[in-house]
Amino acid sequence: MSSFKSAYLQGVYDTVCKRNAGEPEFLQAVKEVLESFEPVVERRPDLVEAGIIDRIVEPERFIQFRVSWVDDQGKVQVNRGFRVQFNSAIGPYKGGLRLHPSVCASVIKFLGFEQIFKNSLTGLPMGGGKGGSDFDPKGKSDGEIMRFCQSFMTELYRHIGPDTDVPAGDIGVGAREIGYLFGQYKRLANEFTGVLTGKGLTYGGSLVRTQATGYGLLYFTREMLANMKKETLEGKTVVISGSGNVAIYATEKAQQLGAKVVALSDSNGYIYDPAGIKLDVVKQIKEVERARIKEYVSRVSGAEYHEGCKGIWTIKCDVALPCATQNELDGEAAQTLIKNGVIAVAEGANMPSTPDAVEAFQKAGVLFGPAKAANAGGVATSGLEMCQNSMRYSWSFEEVDKKLEDIMTNIFHNAYNASKEFGDEGNLVMGANIAGFLKVADAMKWQGVAY
Ligand code: NDP
Repeated sequence: MSSFKSAYLQGVYDTVCKRNAGEPEFLQAVKEVLESFEPVVERRPDLVEAGIIDRIVEPERFIQFRVSWVDDQGKVQVNRGFRVQFNSAIGPYKGGLRLHPSVCASVIKFLGFEQIFKNSLTGLPMGGGKGGSDFDPKGKSDGEIMRFCQSFMTELYRHIGPDTDVPAGDIGVGAREIGYLFGQYKRLANEFTGVLTGKGLTYGGSLVRTQATGYGLLYFTREMLANMKKETLEGKTVVISGSGNVAIYATEKAQQLGAKVVALSDSNGYIYDPAGIKLDVVKQIKEVERARIKEYVSRVSGAEYHEGCKGIWTIKCDVALPCATQNELDGEAAQTLIKNGVIAVAEGANMPSTPDAVEAFQKAGVLFGPAKAANAGGVATSGLEMCQNSMRYSWSFEEVDKKLEDIMTNIFHNAYNASKEFGDEGNLVMGANIAGFLKVADAMKWQGVAY
């Protein structure tokens, strides 16, 4: 079925479909990006001639490996590990590791592909990569997590390095997992380098990295509201899905900026607290006890818990921030949010809105901040961590936070300006894709054809 005006783009997409059959998330991500390139193809025939778009949709390298480890009962367990090294035109591959049972080649490739454009948008010299495993960290003991991470790194270490590929965290990978991964890398490589980001503060981590994706999402949302609607976050009602790293620090910054966050979720259900979420209670439950979000209602009176995570989008709000996982907000949920008067949606998670949902928001005039722009604060601060590691020096919290704020403000303006320049002012999906792409495309062109 033809969906591109340009026969060239249609041809690229058809080839991607043939090569990656049965990988729906990857095809969804590629399609959305290619759709944005219609005006680029018209204005930059040099990039078409150099085969840049044909090349950018094919990973430079895709690594899959066995991860075997021993559980607490002494039984051997086997998982599958992945690393995609998608594009290194503007810097070493950079992107997180995800541990979740849904991880497969399609998910890793969609995330790695998105990462190319996101990393470029930060303005820092980072290529695109991503990795992970179908290992499920839920319910595992500390010892099991450590043995899994050590086994995973025993293979991964030969493919990465501070100037080659620098992984970080993602779903299921936080400070604890990064610590075990770093320890094993150091043992195997016999060197102490900034090979991972999201490290603990005692061994090379950066201040603000923990908060970065959530804080960055709110800096972006603030800028989008101010420039496109002359609005602020003060007094706005906000709904945030998820209750992991991104959701927690998005909540913290939203509250600091005067908004009222009324709901959070996990994969089982959502909590609604009309008085405003008590973040100290959430942090205790999620960060300290690693328990389920429904615990919240036994500790805070007046709060409700509902089974099923999708119901969170039925809550009336001004701003919706999906911060859990891909395709969690569909067309129907988008229509409900629109009916309830939402004015802005910004994506903390990667590709949380389905194509139907994005279209509905754009048609209804709802401000829409796509993931590659809105959640780039995490990888931007990882870039700042790499920078500090290279200098063997640390910046203060205020210094890093200010740099993060500046980067997110610039990302908004670069995406907005690109949308204007390429003929669809305010379409930040298109603007972010094009702004992220052009820098990588020029670098690829200058570096010749051998990859
Ligand atoms: P965490 O593991 O800390 O938290 C993930 C949250 O999402 C949990 O509340 C989890 O609930 C929920 N979740 C995960 N899978 C599903 C699912 N299939 N359905 C419903 N809820 C689900 O991860 P992060 O907060 O780090 O990541 C969240 C999103 O943000 C991801 O899309 C990630 O790629 C993206 N992101 C993260 C960055 C970072 O710096 N950490 C940077 C940029 C993007 P449960 O506990 O029930 O699984």
